[in-house]
Amino acid sequence: MRAPGGAGHAAAAARFLRDAERASWHDAALWHVRARRDAAAAAVPEWEALRERAAAIRRHALAHLGEYLEQFERNATSLGARVHWAADAAEHNAIVLAILRERGAERVVKSKSMLTEECGLNAHLESRGIEIVDTDLGERIVQLRREPPSHIVMPAIHLRKREIGDLFAERLGSEPGVCEPAALAEVARRHLRAAFLRAQAGITGANFLLADTGGLVVCTNEGNADLGMVLPPLHVVCVGIEKLVPRAADLGVMLRLLARSATGQAITAYSSHVHGPRPGGELHVVLVDNGRSALLADPALGDALACIRCGACLNTCPVYRRSGGHSYGTPVGGPIGSVLAPAREPARHGSLPSACSLCGSCREVCPVGIDLPAQLVSLRGTLRARGQVGLRRRLAARAAAAVLARPALYGAAGALARRVLKRLPEAWWRRSAWGRERARPRLPAASFRTRWRQRVR
Ligand code: SF4
Repeated sequence: MRAPGGAGHAAAAARFLRDAERASWHDAALWHVRARRDAAAAAVPEWEALRERAAAIRRHALAHLGEYLEQFERNATSLGARVHWAADAAEHNAIVLAILRERGAERVVKSKSMLTEECGLNAHLESRGIEIVDTDLGERIVQLRREPPSHIVMPAIHLRKREIGDLFAERLGSEPGVCEPAALAEVARRHLRAAFLRAQAGITGANFLLADTGGLVVCTNEGNADLGMVLPPLHVVCVGIEKLVPRAADLGVMLRLLARSATGQAITAYSSHVHGPRPGGELHVVLVDNGRSALLADPALGDALACIRCGACLNTCPVYRRSGGHSYGTPVGGPIGSVLAPAREPARHGSLPSACSLCGSCREVCPVGIDLPAQLVSLRGTLRARGQVGLRRRLAARAAAAVLARPALYGAAGALARRVLKRLPEAWWRRSAWGRERARPRLPAASFRTRWRQRVR
């Protein structure tokens, strides 16, 4: 499912678009989430002031990251946690494995953590005999399918409910043909409850680390992280070093923005605070760099570390909505992923900065004001200068630049294109991607939940 290297995104997107029905509801479903975000933002009169405040908090934290990380370590340690530092994915995986092995933990539950996806933790632990069960429903679905999440907030948004019903019938023994969301959720609840009770350790990510208290905050809608944190005696938190906020007092700003930007909810169902291990338990926090320090030092791209992973830029992006998350070939897709992945591995993800129309919608919705279009343009230039852009793309960009720089030529090219298109045979037009798009039935203007129930998917 992952897109291959440098030329990957366009080819993977073309594969996604071959299933026209899936592409259509994927687009509509994410646009619906975007509309919910707009409504939630509009209901908060001080929304723009909140965004400015959040942007300032995140920039301040990044500007003083070293000091705040050390402050966090001191305070977390005084609360009884053990803090580990991992330079890269390999060290992160080795630290987590050592913690589990030292305690004899062979069965682990994990709540959604994009960092562990980034580090390939599941495969690392499974290859060493440790059972790891993702407990976020969407994550568990994609784990059972042996594929990565396609969205950072809604990992299985690319799947139809009947596909999930078939998967549960095959893997979890549910009644074949059952695909009502409530019934599927009940199947998952029973399956996951057993995994929680068997688990000897719980792994979670963290949405925020609080430097001044040494605490951390985990936001979920299913409560799965809470069970993973308190049922087993061992809790391991895997988190990127950029997740720091200086003060607990800053948290209100971030939480008000996070859920509204992500799904249009006023707040996530669970915003769980962890200050030290649970009574009788152990808490380990693994702080992971894995390229973040290098990114922070990049004057053009370092600001991307301010991201709070709300997913709003994915939901609004016309390319993401039309190409599906797997087309990016990286755990974090969409506009923010198109900055983060090539910044870390330019040779492998060189196609991603071009997976963007530069419409600017991502910048408009980003709760912390990251100028993603400017970063993507900058990355294109960097990749071009390093010779990591293919000949076809270079020639196309040169031709486009020549036309766009000359209004008269642009007008003539448009007129010529219209004349050519008009003369194309009707049959060709119908077969083309544009023709199929126009012929596609429009989805009803009902809520996502209603459409889900009506089995549009
Ligand atoms: S870049 Fe902004 S909009 Fe995109 S996920 Fe990060 S915080 Fe959200």
